[in-house]
Amino acid sequence: MMIRSVDIYILDIPTVRPHQLAMHTITAQSIVVARITNEAGQEGWSEVATIGGASYGEGTVEAIKANIDQYITPHIIGKELADFSKIMFEVSKVVRGNNFAKAVVEEALIDLVAKSKNVPAYELLGGKIHDSLPLAWTLASGDTGKDIEEAKEFLRQKRHKIFKLKIGKGDPFKNVDHVLKIIAAVGDKARVTVDVNQAWDETTANYCIEKLQAGGVSMVEQPLPTWNYEGMARLTERFMVPIMADEAANSVQDVFQITKHRYGNCIALKPCKHGGLLETKKVAAIAEGAGFGLYGGTMIESSLGTAACAAVYATISEFEFGTEIFGPLLFKDRITTDEIQFENFEIIIPDGPGFGMEIDLDKVKHYARDYSYSLSLK
Ligand SMILES: [Mg+2]
Repeated sequence: MMIRSVDIYILDIPTVRPHQLAMHTITAQSIVVARITNEAGQEGWSEVATIGGASYGEGTVEAIKANIDQYITPHIIGKELADFSKIMFEVSKVVRGNNFAKAVVEEALIDLVAKSKNVPAYELLGGKIHDSLPLAWTLASGDTGKDIEEAKEFLRQKRHKIFKLKIGKGDPFKNVDHVLKIIAAVGDKARVTVDVNQAWDETTANYCIEKLQAGGVSMVEQPLPTWNYEGMARLTERFMVPIMADEAANSVQDVFQITKHRYGNCIALKPCKHGGLLETKKVAAIAEGAGFGLYGGTMIESSLGTAACAAVYATISEFEFGTEIFGPLLFKDRITTDEIQFENFEIIIPDGPGFGMEIDLDKVKHYARDYSYSLSLK
C-alpha cells in the first residue's frame, strides 16, 4: 500500500497549571502532529512536543514542520508503507539530525502500518513486556507548600509515588532546601528525584548534590550543561546518587559515548530525541549493555504522543527509574477521543490498533495554528 500524503500541523494546547522548568514556564504546550495517509485513505497519526521554543533544545515546532515539509515528505510520498524501516533509513541518508522531525514521521508510519494490520504498534516493535509501567509526576508549581499538597494528594489517589522536582531555576541553595522539605513531608512513601536541566556549573553541582544525596534524593538528572561531559563523569565518580544524562543523550552515537566514558550512569529515553521508536530501542540496548539504568522520559506530549512513547517503552525490559509519561494529566484538553488510563501508580499501555488512539479531528482543527493554511496548499 503506497503512501499518498503527509500533513504536519502545529498545535498549542493549554496546561492545567503553569509548569516551571529551568529555562521556561509552560502554560500552553506546543506540539507537532503528523498525519500520513495511504492510497486507501487510512490514516496514521503521531505527535512530538518541544519545550519553551528553542530554550530547552535547538529543535522548535516551526523548524520541525518546515524541515519535514521541505526535506522529508518528498522522500516518503509514493513509497511502500510496509517498508517504514527502509524509508527512515533512506531519510537518514539525506537529512542530518532533525531527530524530532524524523521521530514524528516514523511514528505516524508505524501507527498506520499497525492500524492497517489491525494490531497494536508495540507488536511491530518486538511485542510488549509490560501491561503497565510506573509513572512519576513532576512537582513544578514553583511553590513548596503547593508541591507538598500536590504530592500528598497524588499519593492518596494512588496516582504517583515517584516525584521529580525541577530545580534549575533560581537560587540553587534555596532549591535544595525546597527539595529537602518535600522529602521530609512525603517521608518513605515516595521516591524523590531532581532535574536540573543543565542549569548548574560544576562547583554548584558539587555543593548541591552532596546535600541532596545526604537528604535522600534518589536521582539527579542532567545537573550540568550538555557540553560538560567530563564534569558529568566527575560527578558520577564522586557521588553514590545516580547521575542521569537527558539533554546530552540524543543519538545512538551520543549514548554510546556516554556509556563508554560514564558521563552519567543512567539515561532518560525520549523517542523524539533519538529520532523515533526504532532508534529508541537501539539506545535502550546500548544502555542495557553498559549496565545503565533507564528512565522512560517525556517531552510533555499529549495523549497521542504519550501513547507512542508507551508503545515502545512497553517493549523495553527494565525501567529502573520508572517512566514520566504523565503529559496527558498536565494538558487541559486532548486531540484524541480515547484517553490514556492511569491506575495504581502506573500508566496502562494502550491496546488498540496502532497507538490505540482515535483522533478527534475537530480538536486538531481547533488547536492547530495552520490547519486551513495547510489545506490551502493542496
Ligand atoms: Mg530531563
